Amino acid sequence: MRALYPGSFDPVTFGHLDLIQRASQLFDEVIVAVLRNPNKQPSFSLEERLEQLSSVTSHLPQVRVTSFEGLTVHFALEQDARVILRGLRALSDFEFELQLAHTNASLSDQVDTLFMATAVPHSFLSSSVVKEVARFGGDVQHLVPETVAIDLRRLFNQRVDVSGDR
Ligand code: ADP
Repeated sequence: MRALYPGSFDPVTFGHLDLIQRASQLFDEVIVAVLRNPNKQPSFSLEERLEQLSSVTSHLPQVRVTSFEGLTVHFALEQDARVILRGLRALSDFEFELQLAHTNASLSDQVDTLFMATAVPHSFLSSSVVKEVARFGGDVQHLVPETVAIDLRRLFNQRVDVSGDR
């Protein structure tokens, strides 16, 4: 069975990676798909996020990294994925995720949403928290893979340089 794991991954964290790793033991193939969302201004370009995801999942042969735009359900059907995978951290994720799952179910009965509980050590972790820490020079080594930590340092150093606001 093939599963689709959609998200912004701006950037990928150890929370996402843990979920991808566990899912790759459950499914024959896991498609990690970066949503090209015209309403969101990401910190990392699509190319950067695809590169980060490919590099941190290169040891997982069942994982394929790609991008999509439009409805997740349509992309899942197109990719012949029966399952949309989402991670649940705290109760606060639940309401939104359930609404999303119900919306998707109303659009197609060929695709089911499965939730995976976050690993406890990553339950507080989100891409925005990581960016907040990195922005103010905090250590993110325990939150994201090394290659992403380097990209974060570059992102915020460049920002400082460009604005001259040092
Ligand atoms: P989105 O913008 O679609 O929420 P994200 O990249 O923030 O995209 O998250 C993609 C998926 O990964 C979501 O299902 C989210 O709940 C899940 N996720 C995010 N952080 C973690 C984490 N620390 N542990 C487990 N799952 C997570």
